[in-house]
Amino acid sequence: MALNLLMLGPPGAGKGTQAERFAKERRIPKISTGDILREAVATKTEVGQRAKAIMDRGELVSDEVMIGIVRERLERPDAVSGFVLDGFPRTVAQAAALDRIMAERDPLIVVDIVVPEDELVRRLGTRSICRLCGTGASVGSTVGAACGKCGGRLVQRTDDNQAVVLERLKVYHRQSEPLVEYYRVRPTFRSIDGAQPPDRVAADLAAAIAAAGNGAAGVQG
Ligand code: AMP
Repeated sequence: MALNLLMLGPPGAGKGTQAERFAKERRIPKISTGDILREAVATKTEVGQRAKAIMDRGELVSDEVMIGIVRERLERPDAVSGFVLDGFPRTVAQAAALDRIMAERDPLIVVDIVVPEDELVRRLGTRSICRLCGTGASVGSTVGAACGKCGGRLVQRTDDNQAVVLERLKVYHRQSEPLVEYYRVRPTFRSIDGAQPPDRVAADLAAAIAAAGNGAAGVQG
């Protein structure tokens, strides 16, 4: 059975870090819509040029554009035996479209990473990202230091300044948090405590996925 994992949680919950780690371990692609958009901005594609201002304000790119991006990405051969989705869906309309895309495929396993608001604000204010390869560095890494992966310079994300962080959290509560209710009723839904050290979160994530996998097997009969 393919492992089709979806990570939910507010910005700063550690979705990207955990998705990256888990995908590498299981040798399945990590599909991050934020990374796809940042790449489109960097290479100045049409989508990127339109998305930049929206991202810099902390708002959401349109459902239509995002659903098109994800539909195309999930059809690629490397995603057939599983994937980790990070940052999508972010609205109920995106979740409904994802259900249609996944109709003939193995069920989604959905893990919600829960972190208190004050911890999110602290993390988002002190995290950095490599300006060359886009890899996220650990919270508290020094801006200006070298990326552990490619040696590029670590910078603050342009949408991690305080005003934009507050807007992104507001957008999360308004548009993305309803997804928890959307998925909670499924036997493949689990939530984990994201306010722990990354290794503990990774262990809880693996356990939650194993338990949810049993739920998925039940769904399949
Ligand atoms: P992230 O790296 O997931 O925090 O995404 C960075 C920004 O990209 C978000 O603040 C949005 O502007 C945009 N974005 C990423 N994923 C989505 C999505 N599924 N729907 C709409 N906008 C998105």
